Amino acid sequence: MVRRPMIAGNWKMHMTSQETETFIGVFLERISGLEKAEILLIPPYTSLERAARLLEGTTVGLGAQDLHFEERGAYTGAVSGGMIRASGCGYVLVGHSERRHIFGDDSDVVCRKLRAALFAGLLPILCVGELLEERRSERTQAVVTAQLETALREVGADEIERVAIAYEPVWAIGTGETATPDQAQGAASVIRAWVSSRFGVEAAGAMRILYGGSVKPENTASLVSLADVDGALVGGASLDPDAFARIVEEASNG
Ligand code: PEP
Repeated sequence: MVRRPMIAGNWKMHMTSQETETFIGVFLERISGLEKAEILLIPPYTSLERAARLLEGTTVGLGAQDLHFEERGAYTGAVSGGMIRASGCGYVLVGHSERRHIFGDDSDVVCRKLRAALFAGLLPILCVGELLEERRSERTQAVVTAQLETALREVGADEIERVAIAYEPVWAIGTGETATPDQAQGAASVIRAWVSSRFGVEAAGAMRILYGGSVKPENTASLVSLADVDGALVGGASLDPDAFARIVEEASNG
């Protein structure tokens, strides 16, 4: 099974709408001709509509960083999957560690958000990963599989092909400390084995599993070339169009 690599840039709470336009102008030039990887930009909500217009007709996809699990209602400050879809997005992050640890999204909320994303016709990128103390106490496999079990418990066999998974060890996010290729491959293979046991060999073979956590141009090739890693979810380095384009290039050369 050949899986197309995916390189996604999560801008977190960075970039105004105007800065988004400037970024996209430079970035599209830098990546011209690089078609091997599926490329995604994941800006803040306030940039989505402008980004969607600028990316129309290009090969670059657009995603949102989060969504609410309800379709509409009295949820001040929240944005629904349908609104995100109508803004021109095809993708949404679900269960990012900053949502889990700063905003308190527990595993039930992550499960409901994942369902809401599928219901809205978005492709959720489900983020899972362990804390440093969990890795130190050799609980990575248990933590990651528990996160998968709750987040995907209501996903049917006919829907799993519309989900991607990002393995993001929390200790590697925004810290400059990247997982070693052995650590990234070990966790990605645990994820693929779990998908296989829950949804079957075919679904596992097709599942895209990204690595995220301090990915930079210099370490991209060693991570995305791993047997069970099919791309990268990039935070900090995706804010610079040159660095992010170099990451796309590294992923395209493999
Ligand atoms: C992320 O935000 O998902 C991430 C991996 O961030 P960084 O690349 O900055 O570690």
